[in-house]
Amino acid sequence: TRTYVVTGSASGIGAATKGALEAAGHRVIGIDLRGADVEADLSTPEGRAEAAARAIELAGGVVDGAIACAGISAPVPATIAVNYFGVVEVLTHLLPGLAKSDAPRAAVVSSMASLQPNSAELVEAALAGDEARALAVAGELAAQGPEVGYLVYPSSKRALSRWVRRASISPEWAGAGIPLNAVAPGTVITPMTAGLLETPEGRAMVDAAVPMPLNSHQPPESIANLLVWLTSEQNTHMAGQTIYCDGGADATLRGDDI
Ligand code: NAD
Repeated sequence: TRTYVVTGSASGIGAATKGALEAAGHRVIGIDLRGADVEADLSTPEGRAEAAARAIELAGGVVDGAIACAGISAPVPATIAVNYFGVVEVLTHLLPGLAKSDAPRAAVVSSMASLQPNSAELVEAALAGDEARALAVAGELAAQGPEVGYLVYPSSKRALSRWVRRASISPEWAGAGIPLNAVAPGTVITPMTAGLLETPEGRAMVDAAVPMPLNSHQPPESIANLLVWLTSEQNTHMAGQTIYCDGGADATLRGDDI
């Protein structure tokens, strides 16, 4: 039995991941705004630090797996705070707990949106760890309306996938023997997408942006099962990857450009 910390555990992909881990006999400490073992707001530095500290305490000091699913997609500055800083800081705060495991693993949820057009300035501010500047840049984008504001989401995921790539080979992660990877879903059927998938217009918009020739929209379990493997003892050598599990969206959009 392993002990996992899962953020965003109350809904969608996080809830499915918690369910899959528990079904396999593991212990899960969930973090979410509401309806979780640890209730915290990951949009703030204090919320992130307190959530990680409380989760380590509940885990009895040893965290075998850390999985960050919490995220939002609104065209607002909070999206960079939750999706980037809310992931990077929680995982970093969990490092002392992971260090006590004999097979520590970590994984995060990026998105195929990490390949979409984004704001290079916002990606750079995030990777520099400058949350004040990132929030200011995101605020400028959001002020230009929802279409430009939408750029905050793909920017948050591009920055996250790039952070995973860099951090995974650093002394803190690779040096500590912790495989760190990301998964990139296509369109997952969860409360995040429910509104969009409700109408034919919304579905057409989503499908134009995220073409999924293989099996179309995916259940959260398709991502949960991948997260379970990435954070299992079986994964000894995969590091720094963003695994596109997206019904072929990446293969369609990026084609031969790899
Ligand atoms: P969801 O809305 O069902 O679940 C997200 C969870 O994150 C919720 O329980 C929510 O309360 C929590 N959360 C949001 N803000 C928080 C905060 N400030 N502090 C703590 N918890 C917070 O959405 P989902 O579809 O399961 O999304 C999970 C992850 O998958 C997100 O990172 C999302 O960007 C990513 N993703 C989703 C899709 C999709 O199509 N649904 C596609 C690609 C990537």
